[in-house]
Amino acid sequence: MKRYGSFTAVDGISLSVESGEFYGFLGPNGAGKTTTINAIVGLARTSGGSIRIFGYDNERQWREARRLIGLSPQEFNFDRYLSLRDVLIYSAGYYGLRGKRVAERADMLLERFGLTSHAHLEYTKISGGQKRRLSLARALIHEPKLLILDEPTAGVDVELRLALWEWLQKLNREGLTIFLTTHYLEEAEELCRRIAIVRAGRIVAEKPTEELVALGASLQDVFLELTRN
Ligand code: ATP
Repeated sequence: MKRYGSFTAVDGISLSVESGEFYGFLGPNGAGKTTTINAIVGLARTSGGSIRIFGYDNERQWREARRLIGLSPQEFNFDRYLSLRDVLIYSAGYYGLRGKRVAERADMLLERFGLTSHAHLEYTKISGGQKRRLSLARALIHEPKLLILDEPTAGVDVELRLALWEWLQKLNREGLTIFLTTHYLEEAEELCRRIAIVRAGRIVAEKPTEELVALGASLQDVFLELTRN
């Protein structure tokens, strides 16, 4: 649960994501998705309840829990004066990782996300789509087991969106657990094995994707029906 003053933003959300799963967390604006993510990653203290990350309590064992999570947040929060490569290297340092192995992994991720030619540019000098890719690379620098993506394809063009889908599917096949929020329902349908729909801080449905879609004519149809005021 999460309260802001007397307002309850998240109210008894109980969910469990399997290791290796690709899980979709959908809901209209203000439903409580980012609040839930902030609670999972330890950026917001919960007002009640508990969260475990691969068995670690995210408050009492926050170091272990946080080390296992990579977050690509909804809004960019990079240090504006760092080069792209340094964004990755500094982020690894935050987890106590440094040296040659980190530099090599940073270069590998820059390559993987098509950012090598921009590696030494300041982050303010790249486009929105490139920032999205950098955000994903940064989320992966410390080799997390759980990747949390808060609207990873907001504002990206069709071509990059398809490329991001492919990267995410590949990462998931390699064993990474992925927790995704998105307003693009076709994205959730394409990528997620299981989907939860939240409305006003509560889960109103949670099912394997095909079962959820089968409740109506389309996922959009089901989504609108379940989230109607
Ligand atoms: P969106 O799709 O628009 O990103 P969301 O599902 O991520 O929405 P949240 O950002 O989690 O929604 O917000 C849930 C509710 O909590 C909203 O009503 C919002 O106004 C409220 N809220 C979020 N952060 C705060 C805060 N720091 N103080 C007070 N209320 C907040």
